[in-house]
Amino acid sequence: MKEIILIKNGELALKGLNRMNFENALIKNIKTAINGLGATQITRAQSTITIEPMEEDYPFEEALLKIKKVFGIAAFCRAAAVSKDMDEILKQCVPYLKETMKGVKTFKVEAKRADKKFPLTSPEISRLVGGELLKNNHHLKVDVHNPEIVVTVEIRDKWAFIRAGQIHGAGGMPVGTGGRASILISGGIDSPVAAWMMAKRGIELDAIHFASPPYTSLRAEQKVKKLLSRVASYSGPIRMGIVPFTELQQTIADNCPEEYFTLIMRRMMMRISERLAQKRKSLALITGESVGQVASQTLPALVTTDIVVNMPVFRPLIGMDKDEIVEISRKIDTFEISIEPYEDCCTVFTPKHPRTRPTPEQCEQAEALFDFEPLIAQAVENTVYEVIE
Ligand code: ATP
Ligand code: MG
Repeated sequence: MKEIILIKNGELALKGLNRMNFENALIKNIKTAINGLGATQITRAQSTITIEPMEEDYPFEEALLKIKKVFGIAAFCRAAAVSKDMDEILKQCVPYLKETMKGVKTFKVEAKRADKKFPLTSPEISRLVGGELLKNNHHLKVDVHNPEIVVTVEIRDKWAFIRAGQIHGAGGMPVGTGGRASILISGGIDSPVAAWMMAKRGIELDAIHFASPPYTSLRAEQKVKKLLSRVASYSGPIRMGIVPFTELQQTIADNCPEEYFTLIMRRMMMRISERLAQKRKSLALITGESVGQVASQTLPALVTTDIVVNMPVFRPLIGMDKDEIVEISRKIDTFEISIEPYEDCCTVFTPKHPRTRPTPEQCEQAEALFDFEPLIAQAVENTVYEVIE
C-alpha cells in the first residue's frame, strides 16, 4: 500500500479553457508550496489532483500545512492508494484506518465509482468495507445520518483510494489566474489583510512600500518584509519595491498648507505607485483603506486620492469594521507582527487639524505651490526591489 495526498479543486462551475488554466495554475502553485519537502509526482483527473511521494518518509503533515494555504483548493486529505481489487481494499482498509478510528465511536462508509466497470456497485463496496471495519474495531458503530467520521472509498482509473474525512482548503482561486495588482503595503493591520484577500481571488501580488528614513527606521522596513512573507506563504513570492519618500514628504511639509499635508502625501503615493505598477505590468492598485476609519479615509478624502490616477484602486476592506479586519489578520498570522510599534511614514508630519471634506480642486491648489514632478520621477527612479518569499 502507498499513501498519497488527494486535492479537490474549488470553484467547480469553471468550464473549458478556464478550467484548464485554473488547474495548471493550481498545480504550479502546489509545486511551489511543497518545493523542497521531497520528490513527488503530481497528476490530475476529474477535478482531483494527486500528489504521490517518490521517496520513503515523506513529511506528509508538513506538506498538508503548506497545501492548506494554497488558494483554489476546496478540500484535501491523505489517502491510501491500493490496487483495484475488492480483497485488497478489504485487507488494507483496517490497518490504514486503525489510528484514525481509535477515539471514534460512529462512522459510515461512502463508495464512489469513477470506473463503472468495477465489478461491485457502490452500495456493495460500502457494505463490505463497513463490515470489515466493524469486525476489526469492536468500539465502532455505523451511523448513516450523523457519523463522526466518513470513510470514503473511491474507485478511480488506476487505483482505489481509501480515506477518512477531509480538511477544508483555503478556497478562492489559484494565484496567477486573475492578473497582477500592486498592494501598497504599510506595517499596519489593514494592508496585509487587503493583500491576502486579493490573492485569495487569484490575483498575483506586487508590493510597494514607502520608506522615509531617518523618520522611519530599518526595523519598520523589516517589519513590512515579515508581514509580506506571511502573505507570501499563501500567495507565493511577492516582488516588493521600496520607495525613498523622505524628500517628497519634507518638501510637502515645507511648501504646502499643513491641513492638506496627509492628503497630498497620499496623492503622491498614488502617482508614484501607478508609475511603478505600469513598469511591472500590474493592472491595478490595492490599499487597506476602509471608509471612515481615519481622516484620510472619509469618502471625500478617498475621492481626492483616487482622482490623481487612471488605474483602478481596489480597497477590499472598504466596508469592513476594524474588528472584522483584526479577525482575518489573526487567522492569517499577521496581527502579532502588525502591532509591533515601529513608525510608518504616514504618521510622520501628521497635521493637527486634517481636512476631512476636501475637494480635488482644493488639493490641486495646495499642491500647485511647488513643482513636484521631478521629485516624483526621482522617487520612481530610485525605488529598489526585493523578492519576498
Ligand atoms: P494600515 O493598517 O494598512 O497601515 P491604516 O488604517 O493605518 O492602514 P493609513 O496609514 O492611512 O491607514 O494607510 C492607508 C493605506 O495606505 C494602507 O492600508 C496602505 O495600503 C497604504 N499605506 C500607508 N502607508 C504606507 C506605506 N508606508 N507604504 C505603502 N503603502 C502605505
Ligand atoms: Mg497605517
